[in-house]
Amino acid sequence: MSRDIELTGLRQNNLKDVSLRLPKERLTVFTGVSGSGKSSIVFGTIATESQRQLKETFSLFVRNRLPKHERPRATRMSGLTAAVIVDQKPVGGGVRSTVGTMTEVHAILRVLFSRRGEPSAGPATAYSFNDPQGMCPVCDGLGKKVEADVGKMLDEDLSLNEGAIRIAAPGSYVWQLYARSGLFDPDKPLSDFTPEERDLLLHGSGFKVSRGKYTNTYEGLVTRFERVHLKRDLDQLDRAAAPYVRQATCPECGGRRLNAAALASLIDGRSIADHSAMEVTDLIGVLEEPGDPVAEAAVESLRRIDAIGLGYLSLDRVTPTLSGGEAQRLKTVRNLGSSLTGVTYIFDEPSVGLHPRDVHRLGDLLVELRDKGNTVLVVEHDRDLIELADHVVDMGPGAGTHGGRVVFEGTVAGLTAGGTLTGRMLRRVTGLKDAVRAPSGWLTVAGANSHNLKDVTVRVPLGVLTAVTGVAGSGKSTLMRQELVARHPHVVLIDQSAIGGSPRSTPATYLDVMDPLRKLFAEASGVRPGMFSFNSTGACPLCKGRGEIKTDLAFMDPVTRVCDACGGSRYSEEALSYTVEGRTIADVLAMTAEEAAGRFELPGIGGLGVLGLGYLTLGQPLSTLSGGERQRLKLAHRMRERGQVYVFDEPTTGLHMADVDTLLALLDRLVDEGDTVIVVEHDLDVVKHADWVIDLGPEAGRHGGEVIFEGTPAELTDASTYTAKYLVKSLG
Ligand code: ADP
Ligand code: ADP
Ligand code: ZN
Ligand code: ZN
Repeated sequence: MSRDIELTGLRQNNLKDVSLRLPKERLTVFTGVSGSGKSSIVFGTIATESQRQLKETFSLFVRNRLPKHERPRATRMSGLTAAVIVDQKPVGGGVRSTVGTMTEVHAILRVLFSRRGEPSAGPATAYSFNDPQGMCPVCDGLGKKVEADVGKMLDEDLSLNEGAIRIAAPGSYVWQLYARSGLFDPDKPLSDFTPEERDLLLHGSGFKVSRGKYTNTYEGLVTRFERVHLKRDLDQLDRAAAPYVRQATCPECGGRRLNAAALASLIDGRSIADHSAMEVTDLIGVLEEPGDPVAEAAVESLRRIDAIGLGYLSLDRVTPTLSGGEAQRLKTVRNLGSSLTGVTYIFDEPSVGLHPRDVHRLGDLLVELRDKGNTVLVVEHDRDLIELADHVVDMGPGAGTHGGRVVFEGTVAGLTAGGTLTGRMLRRVTGLKDAVRAPSGWLTVAGANSHNLKDVTVRVPLGVLTAVTGVAGSGKSTLMRQELVARHPHVVLIDQSAIGGSPRSTPATYLDVMDPLRKLFAEASGVRPGMFSFNSTGACPLCKGRGEIKTDLAFMDPVTRVCDACGGSRYSEEALSYTVEGRTIADVLAMTAEEAAGRFELPGIGGLGVLGLGYLTLGQPLSTLSGGERQRLKLAHRMRERGQVYVFDEPTTGLHMADVDTLLALLDRLVDEGDTVIVVEHDLDVVKHADWVIDLGPEAGRHGGEVIFEGTPAELTDASTYTAKYLVKSLG
């Protein structure tokens, strides 16, 4: 078997006939500016091809049930091994998936309790909230119960005849059940009902009532609603009922998800639910017991969670509430626990969300994975992680069509000494700014207590650039998202999350320039604007506006080819017969934002150039944008008014050190034009560039949640927080 992964003639996305040799069982880091082609190699080519080849080995039955992967554009690929992608996608699994179930620590705890819990509830499944033997019978192990919200169901000021029951329109069958039951005065407002009448309306049941010629068993409004509409799983709730319910902690288990027998079983006075509710760091202390192999196994896994900077989480935290960075680090922990070797692990910027203090611990884990005999490929911008690489592939020189080449391949020392942009940036040492801006006013958050925040009162300066810092889990996002953004309508959150909308959304649709464009074409050609929409009259009749035609070949991967009729433009022949300034609508959508802005009056796209997105074409599907590109596009959308307060959540994600300079220039420009910019950041170049710093800590979880420093970056260098320590270190 070859010692290398050999790739020849890669042409996926912007790759320009790239050939590469990657050493197996080594740690390779891919660097380069955003859009240079790192993901196109690692995800678009290597991961896709590995998964496609792996799929070929399954039976047709299994294959047909797996996602379909098309062959990446490449001449030759050999030496690939099974690939495991560890990315920032949210962890699925709904409310039944917790940190404990995902990392398998919960399973170990269950074994521990089955052996040592007093009294024992039985074998290990008796402690599982996902197993009928262990789950609370009332909430089925969800810990929560959906119940009718009477306040939302009734309008107390109205009578039954006036529509007091919001879910039962006058005249409807349900309305008749109550208004015509003969039990109540249908013209009396509910607020005048006696307590007995009210109880009868809501909960009465069991007796016969006659309505005209029918006789029914009377059933109270709430009783009936819960029987008809409420399923135990929130996900299964029907649309009609959704507005009239609320989620409450399960009264039986008190949110602990388990049945009475499981909850009664204790070790040292604590149930398995008590263990799951503790922060991981605290739980380690409780379980440390030399000589018990099961407890030792649990502690070993817990130490890994702690080592990766997630010791502030509890095992009962439901995974859908984790941030992208937290999710990725937990997936890393899970993979470290596995005994697989010979696998290719692929990481997408694993340093996201990590304070400089914790980056080296993440590095240790990547090295541990490698040393188990795996190939580790990492897309990363963080200096400390780049340092760890056995091999570096630097992509560039620019982004998009200006990138797609390997500009350096070799050791970190070689990269740092070399002339590529990455090499030059690695050698650079930046200092503090000479002067900071003075605030034009203050915004106050007072008595903040969400999650781990400890009655935080903090002033946020207006008209300047503020960095909110602190170790992961210290409370930065909570302070910004739950307290600042949620309570101040004029504060705009700009993050990297997906942009909703249809798969056909493009920068043109998102920035509302399709309408003016269609009008422009309609006026010039005298036909209706719908002719210039590929979702409407203008669609190519063959591909129905999709631009491509997919052929499913039963035994092979599907083949997608560009539509013969429209050549991929999505438009009908007629639509393409009209031009403005010699260009068809398809020609205009294929133009970059920069070109289009120079030629047409389209105010919506003017901002893209300033945001460094001038290279996007108007018609590029939004699904192909990176997180950083999405974040800036959202900003372009919001940037039309001045004097706004923006909160950016880790805007340097996905950005090369050189891209960070561009980002800072952009943030400066916003501030200089009158906006307020607040960034939640770990990147020390951003912290140095800020006018004001709010540092949270001192540690994470319940050991954090306080403001431990407020002031200028220069003042921070005299403080004793972790951020201060790493800031001073980075000043050289
Ligand atoms: P990086 O990972 O270095 O940020 P990418 O590999 O994601 O860069 O992107 C390289 C280029 O390919 C960019 O110009 C990007 O817009 C383009 N690109 C990425 N994915 C797609 C896609 N699915 N379809 C079309 N273009 C794409
Ligand atoms: P940071 O942004 O500094 O990484 P967070 O604000 O995300 O920190 O987290 C602060 C604390 O709040 C942590 O203990 C974290 O586990 C907790 N926390 C954050 N989000 C949730 C949530 N959705 N449910 C429960 N606890 C949460
Ligand atoms: Zn329950
Ligand atoms: Zn077509």
